[in-house]
Amino acid sequence: MARILVTGGAGFLGSHLCECLLQQNNEVICLDNYFTGNKSNIIHLLDNKYFELIRHDIINPILLEVDQIYNLACPASPPHYQFNPVKTVKTNVMGTLNALGMAKRVGARILQASTSEVYGDPAIHPQKENYWGNVNPIGIRSCYDEGKRVAETLCMDYHRQNNVEIRIARIFNTYGPKMDPNDGRVVSNFISQALQNEDITIFGNGEQTRSFCYVDDLIKGLITFMNKENFIGPVNLGNPSEFTIKELATTIIQLTNSNSKLIYKPLPQDDPARRKPDISLAKEKLHWSPTIELQTGLKNTINYFEGIICKKN
Ligand code: NAD
Ligand code: UDP
Repeated sequence: MARILVTGGAGFLGSHLCECLLQQNNEVICLDNYFTGNKSNIIHLLDNKYFELIRHDIINPILLEVDQIYNLACPASPPHYQFNPVKTVKTNVMGTLNALGMAKRVGARILQASTSEVYGDPAIHPQKENYWGNVNPIGIRSCYDEGKRVAETLCMDYHRQNNVEIRIARIFNTYGPKMDPNDGRVVSNFISQALQNEDITIFGNGEQTRSFCYVDDLIKGLITFMNKENFIGPVNLGNPSEFTIKELATTIIQLTNSNSKLIYKPLPQDDPARRKPDISLAKEKLHWSPTIELQTGLKNTINYFEGIICKKN
């Protein structure tokens, strides 16, 4: 049994991860400041005597004795990370420093939840780990993109300087149950809108693409990577099936039997035009690839959202 810290453990990915790690007979400490996470995501775990919950902001140091750290604390949706961009940078820089400091002190292995955003608006397609990216350092997405890039730098420097055992996972758009319906990301927005027969808000012309990974696949990838010896990454974790945002909207309308209409809103600044992971490294090193197709994953997510959203006619 390992003692494992999950920062951001009350969030979308963190809560699935806590659940899975407990199922695998680990002791789990979930740390969260509840900025975008919610106690309701992990409330069902509170009866488990191997689960602990700590309300703490990771930008402040904390002393804990653990074997592994998954550093997920950071708002992930553009409206949330842009709400207080200075805080987003602090979470990525000071938060990651504190997590790495803990890993160094207690000899824990640490997995950093990095992102496809380190590639910015990519000039290379699909994106491979050796691509250095095309990131605007002064735009509205920079607090997140550059924050995550510095977090990767810190991981590499703690590894080179202090032999900290790091793992850098570049996560591509992931969706599933327990996404916050008001979080502002595209899958949660479209499903909420479709279930309530509200207009579906497409930003730009809807021809921009994303590649959507179902949460269960992603969590398996993260745990496999954490426990893989002699491979620090960075490694892309995501589903290479690429869709336009308009295709996503029409699929969700069809799966929900919705009367919603598509409406078009301005494209936010620096919104990446195309995104698709090259996952050959994950396949080679981790023997991991996603198995859940978009339609199946969306159906599960829609079921979850139906439970929490009052359906209008
Ligand atoms: P989320 O917003 O649901 O979860 C983030 C969690 O971190 C929340 O519970 C939030 O309250 C907590 N948090 C934020 N700032 C904190 C702080 N200063 N101290 C303590 N806790 C804090 O987002 P998610 O989708 O679960 O993402 C989890 C991680 O994975 C993030 O680091 C995100 O950047 C990364 N990631 C996610 C995706 C994705 O598609 N879901 C893609 C790339 C990277
Ligand atoms: N998007 C959209 N309508 C929405 C929310 C998002 O068209 O209501 C678009 C957004 O402009 C982007 C894509 O969907 O092109 C994915 O957005 P999301 O915020 O989910 O993630 P990210 O841009 O960080 O990949």
